Formats: sequence, C-alpha cells, structure tokens
Amino acid sequence: MVKINKWKTMTNEELWQSVLSQIQLNISPANFATWFANTKISSIENNEVIVSVPNSFSKEWLEQKYHKDILKILKSLDEEIKEIKYVVTPVNVKMSNAQKRGAVKKEEAIEQLGFSELEVSKDTNLNPKYTFDNFIIGPFNEIAYAASMAIVEEPGKSYNPLFVYGDVGLGKTHLIQAIGNKIKENDPTKKVKYIPAEKLISTIVNAIRNQSVQELKKNLRDIDVLIVDDIQFIAGKDKTQEEFFHTFNSLYQKNKQIILSSDRHPNNIPAVTERLKSRFNGGMIADINTPDYETRMAILKQKIEEKNVSISTDVLEYIANNIQKNVRELESAINRIIIYKKANNKNIELEDAKKLLKNIIVSPSKVTNYKKIIESITEFYDIPSGNMFFSSRKKEFARPRQIAMYLLKKELKMSYSEIGRKFGGKDHTTVIHAFQLIEKEYEENEKIHQEVELILQRIYSK
Ligand code: ADP
Ligand code: MG
Repeated sequence: MVKINKWKTMTNEELWQSVLSQIQLNISPANFATWFANTKISSIENNEVIVSVPNSFSKEWLEQKYHKDILKILKSLDEEIKEIKYVVTPVNVKMSNAQKRGAVKKEEAIEQLGFSELEVSKDTNLNPKYTFDNFIIGPFNEIAYAASMAIVEEPGKSYNPLFVYGDVGLGKTHLIQAIGNKIKENDPTKKVKYIPAEKLISTIVNAIRNQSVQELKKNLRDIDVLIVDDIQFIAGKDKTQEEFFHTFNSLYQKNKQIILSSDRHPNNIPAVTERLKSRFNGGMIADINTPDYETRMAILKQKIEEKNVSISTDVLEYIANNIQKNVRELESAINRIIIYKKANNKNIELEDAKKLLKNIIVSPSKVTNYKKIIESITEFYDIPSGNMFFSSRKKEFARPRQIAMYLLKKELKMSYSEIGRKFGGKDHTTVIHAFQLIEKEYEENEKIHQEVELILQRIYSK
C-alpha cells in the first residue's frame, strides 16, 4: 500500500512532486537539476518528513537555502507537517521492499509533471524533453524553425553555422536541442554534442590549466553536430575564443554542423574577435521574436494537453493576455494552475487564477535597484543589513560584500568610486579588486557561480 498522507489523499510521491513543481517556478532549471535531482520523500513519521537526498552537497544546500521554502510549501499542502529531516541516501542503493511498493515509477512521475530535465543524455548532453513534437510554430519563430528543419534533413550541408538569437525564454534552447534530438533519432551513429557556452568556457580554461588542450581539441573535432548554447558568454574570453575559432574551422571544413544560440545578434556581442564574428555571420542567422496572441494560446493549450488537464478558456485567455514576452513565463503560469488544480481537485475559476498568478503577472518593467540588490544579498546570506555589512571587518561579511560590489557594478553599472562610497568610503581599487575576484570565481567556482545565480533570481523576482 502506498502511504497516504491524511487529508489530501496524496501519496508521498505526489506530495513531493507538488513541492518540486512549486520550487521549480522560482529557480533556474540548472539550480533545480543540481539540488533537487534524485530527491524524494522517503517517509513521514510523527509529522516529520524525511527527505532523502543523493549527496551531502544537496543536503547542505537544501538545509541552508531551501529549507524555509520547502517547509512552507509542505505546510500549505498538509498543515500537520511540522519538521523536515534531510538524509543522504546515495542513488543506486537497493530499495527496500517497502520502498519498492511505495515507489511510483520514475518515468511516470516525470511524465506527470514534466521534470524530464533530470534525464539528460550522458552521451550527447541533450534533454529528451526538447522535441519538435512539442514545439509550437508561429510567425515569431517560423524562420528559425524552417532553418532547423533544413539542417535536420542534411546536417552540415544546408546552413552552417545556424545562429539562432532572441531574448531569454523564447525557445532557443528548446529549438537547438530539438535539432540535436531529431538528428540523433534519424541516425543514432551521429555524434551530437550539446554544450552551454559557460560549460565550454570552463572546459577550455581547465584544459589549458591541466595542459590537456590537445585531448580536448581531439574530442571536440570528432563531433558531427556541435551545439553551443548562449554563445554570448564567450565575450571577452580571449583564450576560449581562440580555441573555439580553431575548433569551428576544423568542423566547418569537414562539413560538420555547428549550431549556436545567443541572446543577441552576433554583431552585437561585445569583445568578440572579428574573425570569429565573421564565422558566426557566415551561415544562417535567424531570430526568434515574441509570440503573438494566437501562438501564446496555442502554447498554453499544448501544455495542458500534454498534462491531460482541462482548464477553462477564460483562464487561458487571461494568461495569454497578460504574459506576452516570454514562453517560459507562460509555462510557469500554466504549470502553477495545473498543480493547484491537481492538488485541490477543483475547477479553476478566473478569480482563482488571478490570485494564483499575482506574483507572476507583474508590471512589465522588471528593473531592479540598489535597495533590491542589497536586500537580496542580506536575505540570501541571512545577515543583518545595517552598518555591519557595509563596513565590518568580520570575515563572514567579506564574501557577501564582494558579491554586492560585483552586482552593483554589473547590474546597475554604478561606478567603482560610487560603490566604494556606499561601503564606508572604501577606495575604488578595493572595489575593482572585489569585482574582478567575483568575476573570476563566478567563472571557475561552481559554488560561487550558483550563489550569484540564486541571488540574481531573488533580485529579479522582487
Ligand atoms: P531560451 O533558451 O530562449 O531562453 P527555452 O528554450 O529555455 O528559452 O524556452 C523556455 C521554455 O519555454 C522551455 O520550457 C521551452 O520548452 C518552452 N518553449 C519555448 N518555446 C516554445 C515553443 N515554441 N513551443 C513550446 N514550448 C516552448
Ligand atoms: Mg536557453
């Protein structure tokens, strides 16, 4: 028998899926996959929820950064829940019989709520959830789609490279991964590799450090279809650009397909060498615009069909009318409605939807300011925001302060001396030092990278 928690008649698996789906709305897919992959509720006893996590890294992060949120969500789903304990249970450990009986098949759970980003292929690094079957085409993306289909027909022969650009959340990653998945489906012997540019950069930096550049070159040049996502991150990274230029040429000469995505046109990426820019411009450049109303409705309908839920048209129209610029936000909104409907087993009226989506459908200007940045940092590190943080010599404030300086510069373009003044009259060279330090750590240190990302999410969700 599957253990049922009392008043919601949800199984532990469903309960945890509901938690995950709400958490997922507020954090990036990368963070979500890093910290929540292979987590589950292993039992609930005396109102204490035991969450099993795959390693101590996840445990530490869930305890330190997500505990409050998780507990809040759990309590909202079952008010009797009082505590959570996180227990490290390495995956692959044989399940006890009791666990086996209680376990929902992983595929089923994934199917239910669409968490298949946990199922990335080790070989290609592609996520199987990104396909053409679930990709809606409209005037906003039809050129990029047509070019993609031509590439699927004849990789390396039609457009090389394909350069897709457009704002965040408009389906670039989905599209370029769908190309990879389709090519692999048509011919499983094809070597397809998907790499986010950030990963490419750190791989190259590490190879230079470990003197294994030759090996890396060999690996990269042995590929039939190379897909690099968010190539704009290569800006200013001279060493990476140099290596990538050679890899690009070598693949290109062998008629191997190269696919790139970026948040802007290649000519608008700053600090990229001319020769690389001209390579980016040498094939097909396709932009993805914002979806029109009809397409937004089509996307919403597709998502509810996928999850086999019916939602009234006025709710869909409300969402399509109010979320106009971003498919990811459309998705988050409809997911929230679906989860709510499933958890409460009731029809969603327009009024419910309005309440549920209050903090998604906000004023369009998502700009930030000094106060939001400082608040987000002090909240994130759970430190007092008073003078201590700004001028104290205490060691525990050093890192938050450096990150604050870094973000004030990066997000608000404040000058170094202006930032110095905010922090108890520090010299501008101190600020420059802090900025450069965090910039480097962000590149090279996974933990700092994640921290900065999480803080940014906070800032931009305020
Ligand atoms: P980007 O890489 O441009 O930031 P993504 O590819 O990550 O955007 O898309 C954001 C979300 O929206 C993803 O979950 C994706 O599956 C979904 N999505 C984007 N475009 C479409 C589309 N045309 N049809 C269906 N889903 C889409
Ligand atoms: Mg993307």
